[in-house]
Amino acid sequence: MVKLRFAPSPTGNLHVGNYRTALINFLFTKINSGHFLLRIDDTDNERSKIEFEKSIKEDLSWAGLKWDSEVKQSSRIKRYRQVLESLIKKQFVYPCFETPEELLLKRKSQLSSGKPPVYDRSSLKLSPSNIEKYISEGRKPHFRFMLNHETVFWNDLVRGECKYNMKNISDPIIVREDGRFIYTLASVIDDIDLNITHIIRGEDHVTNSAAQIQLFNSLGSKAPTMGHLSLMTDFEGESLSKRIGSISLKELRHNEIESLSLNSYLSLNGTSKNIILRNNLHEIISDFKISDFNRAPTKFNFNDLKKLNSKFIQQLNYEEIKSRFNYLDLKIEKNAWEVIKSNIFSLSELKKWDQIIYGELLENDVEEIMKENFIKHMPENKFNSETWKNWTYNLEKNLDIKKSEIFKLLRKALTGISKGPEMSELILIMGKEKILDRLKK
Ligand code: GLU
Repeated sequence: MVKLRFAPSPTGNLHVGNYRTALINFLFTKINSGHFLLRIDDTDNERSKIEFEKSIKEDLSWAGLKWDSEVKQSSRIKRYRQVLESLIKKQFVYPCFETPEELLLKRKSQLSSGKPPVYDRSSLKLSPSNIEKYISEGRKPHFRFMLNHETVFWNDLVRGECKYNMKNISDPIIVREDGRFIYTLASVIDDIDLNITHIIRGEDHVTNSAAQIQLFNSLGSKAPTMGHLSLMTDFEGESLSKRIGSISLKELRHNEIESLSLNSYLSLNGTSKNIILRNNLHEIISDFKISDFNRAPTKFNFNDLKKLNSKFIQQLNYEEIKSRFNYLDLKIEKNAWEVIKSNIFSLSELKKWDQIIYGELLENDVEEIMKENFIKHMPENKFNSETWKNWTYNLEKNLDIKKSEIFKLLRKALTGISKGPEMSELILIMGKEKILDRLKK
């Protein structure tokens, strides 16, 4: 059976780049009727926080990515120790005694003499008496996995034929001197024990994967099928990383982006297909193909996402909308909704329109004299569908101002902003009294 895992480290909120990995793992699992495991990579007990684990789960649930089972790496330390012992015995793993400062110095001198900064395995040459001396001085070893200096090949689900020359990388550290396990080994043990069949993750893991393929082999297993997705960049081309605080799912949720809009967007962005709004998650699943994803960096364009979201909102009827904004305590009525809906990207904007249409307070920088003119030339009869046309006609005729400028100023005086829905309809909803009142203030 196909089994995939999404393995976040709970060291920050889920950002959209990470979430994309989760979604693609989920879709790949579902299209293959497989099992989706959520693995919490929390071996770094200094940076891992329970509140991040909670918020990651909240985000996944909000997005509809139901996981079939769950495991936390912190609960498997005993198992990792066992495997470590066996790897040490088989001499796949060796203790090292360099301090971080010593390692840094080594790197610097290698770089300055034009050599690649690959660890020179000097701890391997330590005699037993050297090691004893270090230990008696209180030095604690960290452990490295000894790579086989051959070329590793794999057939990548996204990148096709891949190869990696292992001479170019350092033997990876798998346990720190304080005993903490690094993800590199822990992940491989979990993937073996939990029968993971495919690993899909970001391109930033390619080097890791090459080393991990050898780790799988050293533990007598064949590595799962690998797929490395291109990284998502923001519009300027910077990679989206939680460390630079780029868009988190929390933020998207706060902006009232719907999960269907987000899932539609992320399942198509980075493929050559058109980005369209899907009707539901099933449709996204049934149209999913990992081979659609290309290798070029994937640009995250918030405006495209907002467009899909606006489409989603426009498809909802008033009752559905109302049930969504009920908790916001808004007055917006059906006729108002019909007028403003084509101008909003997310429900978070309803608050603003509620204020504009039904509220009192309003700021704008239209001059008083202009507002007086607006009142003076306002059609006298009851507001109707011709009012806006007649009103702006009167203004144009009597003031020496271009029509487009009149439109802009009058809109601003009435709504406080320079863009928005059809004014001829909006003024009918606001009503003559409110409008007069607003212009007088
Ligand atoms: N915890 C790792 C990360 O967030 C998981 C990588 C993997 O999928 O193996 O980068």
